[in-house]
Amino acid sequence: MTLTDVIPSLRYSARARLEPGIWPASAALTDRGDLTIGGVSAVDIAARFGTPAYVLDEDEVRQHCRDYHRALPGVEVAYAGKAFLCRAMARWMCEEGMSLDVCSAGELAVARSAGFPAARILLHGNVKTAEDLKAAQSYGVGRIVVDSLDEISQLGLLAQRRQQVLVRVTPGVDGHTHAAIATGVEDQKFGFSLASGAAEEAVRAVLAQPSLELVGLHCHIGSQITRVASFEEAARRMVRLLHDLRIKYGVTLPQLNLGGGHAVRYLSGDGDFDLDGFAHRLKVAVNFECARLGFPVPALTIEPGRSVVAKAGVTFYRVIAVKHVPGVRTWVAVDGGMSDNLRPALYDAQYVVRMVGRTSRENSAPMTVVGRHCEAGDIIARDVPLPADIHAGDLLAVPCTGAYHHSLASNYNAVARPPVVAVSGGAPRLIVRRESEEDLLGRDCG
Ligand SMILES: *Cc1c(COP(=O)(O)O)cnc(C)c1O
Repeated sequence: MTLTDVIPSLRYSARARLEPGIWPASAALTDRGDLTIGGVSAVDIAARFGTPAYVLDEDEVRQHCRDYHRALPGVEVAYAGKAFLCRAMARWMCEEGMSLDVCSAGELAVARSAGFPAARILLHGNVKTAEDLKAAQSYGVGRIVVDSLDEISQLGLLAQRRQQVLVRVTPGVDGHTHAAIATGVEDQKFGFSLASGAAEEAVRAVLAQPSLELVGLHCHIGSQITRVASFEEAARRMVRLLHDLRIKYGVTLPQLNLGGGHAVRYLSGDGDFDLDGFAHRLKVAVNFECARLGFPVPALTIEPGRSVVAKAGVTFYRVIAVKHVPGVRTWVAVDGGMSDNLRPALYDAQYVVRMVGRTSRENSAPMTVVGRHCEAGDIIARDVPLPADIHAGDLLAVPCTGAYHHSLASNYNAVARPPVVAVSGGAPRLIVRRESEEDLLGRDCG
């Protein structure tokens, strides 16, 4: 907590320091109030690419991959592409030695078109359509994580060549996260329950399919999880299941995939995810449980999405209108909103908002930043301190928007989706262009 957090009436220009832990490591403020990311000015980006715009710090993304590999040597790290995927991102992941999770034929098409090696791709999802499964087979995707008995029989029939599969298990571990992103507990739509015996039934079903090769088990207990103990408990339960399967069915499965869900901070006060602590405790938990049961230590995979890309992203908006309702609230309306950031509406997510591009000598006051869409819930951030002289034309920056922003974006109100501008080494590079009206009309058959 900074002094200016405690005394919000301090002048806005005095809040020179960026909130710790939520901006890309390269982010810096200039004397004139501009923000640079990867050495590139926010004002220049807005002028050149327009607003709203997502900016992604390539070096920050790569650094997160390296942090994972450093902390977890020998562990396969599969990036969960649903957090953010485009061809440039797929190439960065490939170059960083990551594997890749995809959830649909569409995500697979992106990976394929970037030349991402099929052997390092895993196909996920509680629903995989025939098109998804066929696309995976046609590209030769390394592993498919099966999620229902229907899928197992469908895939068994469809598989042209022997397909490696993992069974997704619901270990009954509560990750203590938002209900909409809790996937390890019993009562949700993903996976096969460990407790009810459904997981074992799924294993039997896979073993009965000659075209499928069961190589391991998978679990993903949810997203935005800070408690390492939840991951440890899931790992222990999964090892016990591996051991039970060996005793009952004589199969020694060589792979254990423990999912993703590592939390990131959206606000400076949020709990952080301790990667080194996680790495250490996970290894100890798996090794200990394996030794206790006399089960050979499986090859581990983890699947972080958010924690690889969230902090690398910053969204820029232009202020379009400011409404002061005396004694009630000041509304700051921008040129984007829930079409580029759905998380406040989905999860009550909170964000920091910072005015960039100029300094202000005014005091700051709490204001509510809203979007352009026809929904009262179209709010980007409530009661965030902004300078009292904020006005139309000012530029706003929202950090920690690299994950589940572009990928959850919509065309609500026929608004074109923003571009993604990668920055690295002082230069911006467009990796996803802004949608155009032609794009929007392209699917309209008239
Ligand atoms: C979403 C998802 C992930 C990644 O979750 P994050 O919270 O982004 O790390 C990993 N594995 C599976 C199966 C998922 O569905």
